[in-house]
Amino acid sequence: MSTTNKSAAPHVGGRRSGSQATVTAQHTTSQESAAQTLARSLGKRQTVALGLVCLSAAAVLSAVLLWANQRRHDARQAVGSLTLDDIPFDGQRAYEYLKQLCAIGPRPSGSPGMAAQQKFLEEHFRRLGFTVEYQRFRVHHPLDGSEVAMANMIFRWHPERKQRILLCAHYDTLPFPLLDKDNPKGRFVGANDNASGVAVLMELARTIPQLTSRYGFDLVMLDGEEFVFHPDGRYFIGSEYFARQYAKQKEYQYRWGILLDMVGDKDLQLYQEGNSLRWKETRPLVEEIWSVAARLGVKEFIPQKKYDINDDHVMLYNLGGIPCINIIDFDYPPWHTQADTPEQCSPLSLAKVGWVVQRWLQSLP
Ligand SMILES: [Zn+2]
Repeated sequence: MSTTNKSAAPHVGGRRSGSQATVTAQHTTSQESAAQTLARSLGKRQTVALGLVCLSAAAVLSAVLLWANQRRHDARQAVGSLTLDDIPFDGQRAYEYLKQLCAIGPRPSGSPGMAAQQKFLEEHFRRLGFTVEYQRFRVHHPLDGSEVAMANMIFRWHPERKQRILLCAHYDTLPFPLLDKDNPKGRFVGANDNASGVAVLMELARTIPQLTSRYGFDLVMLDGEEFVFHPDGRYFIGSEYFARQYAKQKEYQYRWGILLDMVGDKDLQLYQEGNSLRWKETRPLVEEIWSVAARLGVKEFIPQKKYDINDDHVMLYNLGGIPCINIIDFDYPPWHTQADTPEQCSPLSLAKVGWVVQRWLQSLP
């Protein structure tokens, strides 16, 4: 992606326990006045003593309840410490895919690495029973004007269905690590950006045949997301082409779309993306995905907005009218540097993202 408008998001943690404490205190005060009123009206010392005993018991009970509440709160937090064994999405296998993609080497548009990647993906999806389609187009090289062949890859499940779900990720890598301070002309393999998104789609594809949904599913690899040699270059060429082609046809319709970009960071933090949250057609899906994550205890999906990110989903939405959200972790220091390697990613992060998307797919009618 290119530009972002960063804004600080205030943290709102701790409010829940604060309000619980207040409620408990009020409760104790009202018990106290009830006991005093009772003692006055009866006028007996024994009753006052009894009242004080009751009062102490109530105070102890309140403290115990408060402590128990806190324990339950901590237990909920601990659910966030998920391991691969807790997650029925194979993050380890997704991570193997990510490493295989990076082992190909740099995979920018039109390169031998891209061709090798296409062969690898075609075999994978064909083996799983998807139809394979190359949406080919040509662009001029931004440096010398020569022709560059690009292709979005479209893998369809139930291609005959008119109502469809789009799951997509860009699969080209930045030609050079433009933000690398030491070597901006060095080698860039794009582990998190965006072998991670591709790897999650590859593993998700294994589970799609088990879905009982009435929707068809298109898993799409977008080319030319960042065939740029300078940060101000032309981005999103593949999603632009895909969106325009989609807008021309009336055969089928995307009900929802999800774009996965940089979802493998071992320090995963998925804030809600600003555009996806603002568009009225996509906001319900953002809310749904983050609430699925909350139900599963995947606390890395943080239900707050942090960045507005210009990414492929903006083209899909603006030019294609596709209600597509972006799931992206933009807090990634090795972004567009040589250090974006598999070591910066983790099987567990891939598992968490894959599981949340998988659960959402399972909930579709
Ligand atoms: Zn990138």
